[in-house]
Amino acid sequence: MLNATLRELSAALAAKKLSSVELTRACLGRIERHNGELNAFITADAPQALAAAERADARRAGKGNAGEAGPLTGIPVAHKDIFCTRAMRTTCGSRMLENYVSPYDAHVVEQLERAGTVLVGKCNMDEFAMGSSTETSHFGPARNPWDKRRVTGGSSGGSAAAVAARLVPAATGTDTGGSIRQPAALSGVCGLKPTYGVVSRYGIVAFASSLDQAGPIAKSAADLALLMNVMAGFDERDSTSVERPKEDYGRFLDTELKGLRIGVPKEYFGEGVDAGVLRAVEAALRWYEAQGARRVDLQLPTSPLGVPVYYVIAPAEASSNLSRFDGVRYGHRAQGYSDLMDMYCRTRAEGFGAEVKQRILVGTYVLSHGYYDAYYLQAQKVRRLIARDFAQAFERCDVILGPTSPTTAFEIGAKASDPVQMYLNDIFTVSAPLAGVPALSIPCGFDEAGLPVGLQLTGDYFSEARLIGIAHRYQQATDWHLRVPKETPL
Ligand code: GLN
Repeated sequence: MLNATLRELSAALAAKKLSSVELTRACLGRIERHNGELNAFITADAPQALAAAERADARRAGKGNAGEAGPLTGIPVAHKDIFCTRAMRTTCGSRMLENYVSPYDAHVVEQLERAGTVLVGKCNMDEFAMGSSTETSHFGPARNPWDKRRVTGGSSGGSAAAVAARLVPAATGTDTGGSIRQPAALSGVCGLKPTYGVVSRYGIVAFASSLDQAGPIAKSAADLALLMNVMAGFDERDSTSVERPKEDYGRFLDTELKGLRIGVPKEYFGEGVDAGVLRAVEAALRWYEAQGARRVDLQLPTSPLGVPVYYVIAPAEASSNLSRFDGVRYGHRAQGYSDLMDMYCRTRAEGFGAEVKQRILVGTYVLSHGYYDAYYLQAQKVRRLIARDFAQAFERCDVILGPTSPTTAFEIGAKASDPVQMYLNDIFTVSAPLAGVPALSIPCGFDEAGLPVGLQLTGDYFSEARLIGIAHRYQQATDWHLRVPKETPL
């Protein structure tokens, strides 16, 4: 049961072979057993989860007034602790919000609640989603279920670890520069970053507003479709939410691979990518070719500029967004200050960790008079070129294939003191959010150390259903996504 996909669980719930209470109990048992070591959850709430599971069972039985049951009714889920929830605190991985309880739910939380999912807890993450390893969390690092000495990736590392260790069948994440796809890759699960504007940002603590996008993390690509059907959709409370007709993200699950044009950028297969990663990704590419897909060699010349551009724009927006944490409105407030300015300074000095402070400093610098043109404006111009690279590539191919991350999971502490090394993890993931296009990561094998490798598929705007279909076809022929980490056996 714990290794079943959402589709299988949904069918079992519908056929009354399984109740939501049983399933939720099993998940809570796993959390109880493994979370002490994995640190995937910051908060888990068994009584609330069981009450929600009872309501879901009643709804499946046609009782109550919540309406007809849907495919996700009764499915336990966890949210990255960046989604505001009334039911549980929302810490964002920070001391600043350690005891913060939101007066409202995020749009995504509402949507999943309406669908009848069972919220079991909130997942660990890098502080304010700044990081690629979940090590900047105020609550300590999450640990990788494939090797507990290693990171889970970040910033949605707790969500990825929770799904990988089969603590919950699905979780949410957010991706600003790779934070859904990179932890999915390092933890051996599936994650999708949708087109910017497809999922509402309402109620998600803002990091870099022009990049932030929420998305699902689950075991299979087909499961991502089920979650997207609930998470996506117009919301007038997010000014950048896109108004489009509702779509079924599972409509291309039987997509034809014959004739599919797969773009293979030279830049994604060069220096700096681990041999084990290359081997697995190239094998996946050969599998698609064997199904009749056509390889289209191409170049994304601006791809190496993604990291420097991202690390100007994201901190710039973050420095502005994080100015709200001033000790007045919400969150931590320092004790024993002399005046208002002193209160601000002490509050922010105590409430934020080192990485967040560094980003605020960098962001303030690149926006400052005299440097704005040289850094921020220049980065915006190059961002435009990155989007143009993708547009040109998608004239020649239907999907771009490559590794999600240049390495597999690294040891906790290995890169923590070297920001440049840490930022280089994001080399293949930052471009999609900079351009606003969708991208997903699915498991495609293991390296020689037995650590999972992620395959990234990037598509043109609003092509997520197609990406899911292409990934699903691969998963029908492989079982990488169903392997269970050896350190958290079932
Ligand atoms: N690793 C990137 C960063 O540190 C991306 C984080 C994210 O996508 N939230 O900013």
